[in-house]
Amino acid sequence: MLSIDIDENSGFCFGVTTAIQKAEEELKKGGILYCLGDIVHNSIECERLKKLGLITIDHGQYRQLHNAKVLLRAHGEPPLTYAIAKENNLELIDATCPVVLKLQQRIKRKWEETADDDRQIVIYGQAGHAEVLGLVGQTDGEAIVIESQEQIETIDPDKDTYIYSQTTKSKEGYQHIVNAIKGYINSNRKCESFNSVCGQVANRMSGIGEFASSHDLVFFVCGKKSSNGKILYNECRKMNSNVHQVESPQDISFALTRGAHRIGICGATSTPKWLMENCKEAIIKYHNNSQNYEE
Ligand code: SF4
Repeated sequence: MLSIDIDENSGFCFGVTTAIQKAEEELKKGGILYCLGDIVHNSIECERLKKLGLITIDHGQYRQLHNAKVLLRAHGEPPLTYAIAKENNLELIDATCPVVLKLQQRIKRKWEETADDDRQIVIYGQAGHAEVLGLVGQTDGEAIVIESQEQIETIDPDKDTYIYSQTTKSKEGYQHIVNAIKGYINSNRKCESFNSVCGQVANRMSGIGEFASSHDLVFFVCGKKSSNGKILYNECRKMNSNVHQVESPQDISFALTRGAHRIGICGATSTPKWLMENCKEAIIKYHNNSQNYEE
């Protein structure tokens, strides 16, 4: 007997849900709506919104735009994006997640408060990631971004140091980097760390691990660019080696499901519930057909 469960804690976090709701509301009003960068790191959801009329542009196109309406996604943007909007008469629909916004404000405040000191801000995150660019922008582009202990030498050991994390990193990884930096900074210098990992990702870690270990085959549904997706997928793989990452039902290797009894479907904070449902339906369809075939 085959059972297929969808992890009830997987799917959009509130930051992504709000951004997509804002996009849909604006699109319903009619007129042209641009979105600066992919609204979510999930190409299938982006495709759905494109069909509703959302036009995704990059930062180069954004600079050239005038007198238009632009949605800023949950990842947030650096101050320069807001300055361009003012200059080019762009109406912004700001869907920056409140968690990211708060972190931007904390970093900006620390940067300004310590302006007279010999100091540096370090962000544990992925260089070039949209959220990280928004955070670095709060420090006039001066913050140092590192993602591994090997990059620690880019930090000056003889400066006061304030460490933050990109919201979608793992708590474990952050603590590891913080310990390494604290051992590296000269003892006559301040070295402070601020926990800025988002609970929406951190709180899912143990739950998703349990979910993976309680199924004999798991499909992790997630876009390739999702940062939290990588973390949650790795957590699943730690608990169950039979976890397979797919972007859509088309990626599912249905042959794998033939011997399975309990199949689990889960995903990232950027994975829509409807996409997990579609994966479930595709497996059921395959299973029914193959049973018919066997009969
Ligand atoms: S993961 Fe957290 S910080 Fe990122 S968009 Fe979702 S709620 Fe906001």
